[in-house]
Amino acid sequence: MTAAYHAPQALLPDGWARDVRLEVGADGSIVAVRPGDAGEGCERLAGAVLPGMPDLHCHAFQRAMAGLAQRLEPGEASFWTWRETMYRFLERLEPEDVAAIAAQLYVELLEGGYTTVVEFHYLHHDRDGRPYADPASMAWAVDEGARRAGIALTLLPVVYLTGGFDGRALEGGQRRFRLDPAGALDLLDRVGERFGDDPDRALGLAPHSLRAVPPAALAEAVRGAAPSLPLHIHVAEQVREVRDCLEATARRPLARLADLVGLSERWCLVHATHLDDDEALLLAGSGAVAGLCPTTEADLGDGLFRLPEHLEGGGRLGIGSDSNVGTDAFAELRLLEYGQRLTSLRRLVAASAAEPSTGGRLWRAALAGGAQASGRPIGRLAPGLRADLLVLDGASPIHAGLAGDRLLDALIFGPGRAPIRDVMVGGRWVVRDGLHPRRAAIGAAYRSVLARLLA
Ligand SMILES: [Zn+2]
Repeated sequence: MTAAYHAPQALLPDGWARDVRLEVGADGSIVAVRPGDAGEGCERLAGAVLPGMPDLHCHAFQRAMAGLAQRLEPGEASFWTWRETMYRFLERLEPEDVAAIAAQLYVELLEGGYTTVVEFHYLHHDRDGRPYADPASMAWAVDEGARRAGIALTLLPVVYLTGGFDGRALEGGQRRFRLDPAGALDLLDRVGERFGDDPDRALGLAPHSLRAVPPAALAEAVRGAAPSLPLHIHVAEQVREVRDCLEATARRPLARLADLVGLSERWCLVHATHLDDDEALLLAGSGAVAGLCPTTEADLGDGLFRLPEHLEGGGRLGIGSDSNVGTDAFAELRLLEYGQRLTSLRRLVAASAAEPSTGGRLWRAALAGGAQASGRPIGRLAPGLRADLLVLDGASPIHAGLAGDRLLDALIFGPGRAPIRDVMVGGRWVVRDGLHPRRAAIGAAYRSVLARLLA
């Protein structure tokens, strides 16, 4: 049966429209979108409607590390020491823990404006680094978390083989990540069989990084993945990574990656922080999505993405919650822009003559890039696409007198959190009146897992 909704205003593919009738089919796809409609027989929505944001880069288990890596210990405090903390933490995790942590995180993501999460899934094995009896156990845990919360999921099995550009073996906590291309393709088959034709599930493949995947394995993984699958990789996040890559290959990471695989619309390059002029130009013109995770990148002291050059060159981008120190899509875009302002000493960096609203341009760019990187029919309110949307609270002060892109500017750059009232994923309401209905139960399970892990 088709459900009909009526929104006072909605962001449609060709711009904002008023009095929009949205019809959603029983399969959770949008059937019709009609602006200027009287709304007869419709459920009236409480405020403006936006397409839900895809979170294009997430490691769900890291949600449970919040507060564990902000304390100065003897020695330097860097990305690399943070990584040691992360390895120590994950030594204790079992699949049921990951399911509980993922469910908690995904509720928070839904309440923060995300309707799809792309899980860069690299925690594969048991505490001793051996495959579980069912080698997909951790993938099922992530999927279970997504089901409890009701978020749509693109799962990316991650290939992870070496501890550096010199090909050194994995040690300690890293052994839980080890997966060669054949193992990742096998995992894709297993998960694909269970996902079947569920329209709210998709797959992709992710070589972890150039430091963790040697060239031959990178080629094998890319060759083995069906051409329809998105490919994701971490690249050029840290200065030391650039230095090590230069030493080992005489090329910088993004240039090296382009040499090895060629860049195209299939790729999502996560972080892509440290680029020289040629690399910035190459990325912008490649059709690949830059996967930006501003809150995590700030937390880890990564550096700033070359946003002006990227947008100038027609580059694509999306946003990710990554280590999940931030779970708010609007705040992620705010920090993306504010980092640029603070270093360039100018305002409205992402805006352009053609798209003068900073918030409008960023939200639309991240929708398009996130949809591309997730490999799912989302990101626009249009017939045939999934009914993944956010309904804002029309009674909130942030709405006062504002419409269209001015509203997006206020949501991203105004005070407080964006007043998200209702969230729909694949035609089902998963958040109503600002609260997830299973929030209490999922929160209780999360607290008991954390109590045990941190004891
Ligand atoms: Zn990551």
